[in-house]
Amino acid sequence: MAGEPQPDCLFCKIVSGEIPATIVRETETTVAFRDINPQAPTHVLVIPRLHHADAASLAAAEPAVAADVLREAGNVAADEKITETGYRIVLNTGAGAGQTVFHAHAHVLGGRGMQWPPG
Ligand code: 5GP
Ligand code: ZN
Repeated sequence: MAGEPQPDCLFCKIVSGEIPATIVRETETTVAFRDINPQAPTHVLVIPRLHHADAASLAAAEPAVAADVLREAGNVAADEKITETGYRIVLNTGAGAGQTVFHAHAHVLGGRGMQWPPG
């Protein structure tokens, strides 16, 4: 059921501690940890503790938690001192857009220049 921990979900296992991660921030509703395959000097994932498949599903079901994820993305950027230079929040949605883990997550990328449009 949406919102409940999913036994086969990698990010639910990071929330529970079953799989280790380099956690940089935690709140009552979110966890932020370093991406295992960083694409920029700062590459942190911010996830809700609740399981929802993607960011839009999370926002539809739990709008306050979706806001928490975005606020935490900004807090990560401040901690990493990339607020001034700029950073990108990425919400890949669907396999065709590069989503590989179907537990909502925001990528926070920064510390280098960013191209537009994205690939
Ligand atoms: P997506 O492709 O779904 O937008 O992002 C999933 C992200 O999760 C990828 O950037 C990938 O590197 C990261 N990732 C996959 N497995 C692990 C893991 O076990 N630990 C951490 N910290 N990141 C992971
Ligand atoms: Zn999950």
